[in-house]
Amino acid sequence: MDLNLTPDEQRFRDEFRAWLESNIPEGWVKIQSHAHESSQERFEFLRAWQKKMYEAGWVGIHWPIEYGGRGASLIEQTIFIEEMARAAAPPLINVLGLSLLGPTLIAYGNEDQKKRFLANILSADEIWCQGYSEPNAGSDLASLRTEAVRDGDHFVVNGQKTWTSFGHYADWCFGVVRTDADAPKHKGLTYVLIDMHSPGVKVRPLKQMTGESEFNEVFFENVRVPIENVVGRVNDGWNIAIATLMFERGTLGASLQITFKRQIERLIEIARTTDRGGRPASEDPLVRQKLAQIYTEIEIFRLNQMRTLTRMSKTGVPGPEGSIQKIFWSEMNQRMQQAAMEILGQYGQLTGESPHAIDHGSWAHGYLRSRGNTIEAGTSEIQRNIIGHFVLGLPKSY
Ligand SMILES: Cc1cc2nc3c(=O)[nH]c(=O)nc-3n(C[C@H](O)[C@H](O)[C@H](O)COP(=O)(O)OP(=O)(O)OC[C@H]3O[C@@H](n4cnc5c(N)ncnc54)[C@H](O)[C@@H]3O)c2cc1C
Repeated sequence: MDLNLTPDEQRFRDEFRAWLESNIPEGWVKIQSHAHESSQERFEFLRAWQKKMYEAGWVGIHWPIEYGGRGASLIEQTIFIEEMARAAAPPLINVLGLSLLGPTLIAYGNEDQKKRFLANILSADEIWCQGYSEPNAGSDLASLRTEAVRDGDHFVVNGQKTWTSFGHYADWCFGVVRTDADAPKHKGLTYVLIDMHSPGVKVRPLKQMTGESEFNEVFFENVRVPIENVVGRVNDGWNIAIATLMFERGTLGASLQITFKRQIERLIEIARTTDRGGRPASEDPLVRQKLAQIYTEIEIFRLNQMRTLTRMSKTGVPGPEGSIQKIFWSEMNQRMQQAAMEILGQYGQLTGESPHAIDHGSWAHGYLRSRGNTIEAGTSEIQRNIIGHFVLGLPKSY
């Protein structure tokens, strides 16, 4: 792959970089540093930010123009993500709609669904959540039990989802339900779009150890879902559900490598100025070894991301490389956050309100939040199973 940008790509990068420089709202620093205390305020702020970006033509870079996107290349999409991370811009709030449902609808949705849903994902007028996991179906997603029974031109949905990120803000939920209880477990599933404002939907936020309520339990009691909200065919939802997961694993890496790079550079700075036994922590040989190791791993991660991108630009879908990247970044981030705690010592435990907190207490938050990285979007064990089977040709684990 040629890693140099063409003149057109450079122009695109410069234009977007300049736009970000003059448009990132000033209030972002304050909102960011109090992330878990003012989540509603943060949500409204980020929704308005995504709308502003959409109106300026900076959302849906790689999406087709006819559905409100910019019709640009995958390389430009990657430049976009990198520039967002480099500028430490506020993230796009409708992340599950943008990176999971949108690409899935573009690939598998019918024309009416594309026209109905895609533009509202881009503008953040409709926020999406992902209703996959259930209390007894996570890694083994195909065991899910939320059922949908046909009643005329509707399905009636009953059951429970859990760990539903953004469920408490979402207007819509994409997910998988069981439509044929007698079929083998991977067969009787259907991919549906559920209006979260429908009667019978109840959302209960879960509290995480970071103090935030990022995800929820979602209960469906006789929720009526029109038949036109089925994506693909009834009882044929498994393949579509898997395609969504491939998009999740394959595309997440692009912005992370920049975020990680910024964090390690900051950590190196902190190590230079933090006292350890009467001298800077950066002079401690063990600290130096750890920092150099993490720096190297971030570089490896970046190069592997290029490999994923090459594959996606050739085939349109991410391959099993997505699983390699997922294991690599999630475990690497846990090591980096652990190293940060060791370097910061007791300062690492101070939260944003303390005048002595470093970086508004964001390292403590990063450390706690990183524990979920090896679970969300498929655990490390499951990613290894995927690599074992699809890359190494080993027997299936189920
Ligand atoms: C921060 C975060 C956000 C999330 N957001 C969402 C969301 O928006 N929507 C959603 O639907 N879900 C979401 N999830 C749920 C997530 O997808 C599941 O937690 C994950 O798939 C694991 O499922 P589980 O928790 O049921 O664990 P289990 O599947 O019960 O696994 C328990 C342990 O057993 C191991 N294990 C299980 N099966 C195997 C096997 N075959 N081989 C080897 N080891 C195995 C697992 O690796 C794990 O260590 C989120 C999770 C987190 C942490």
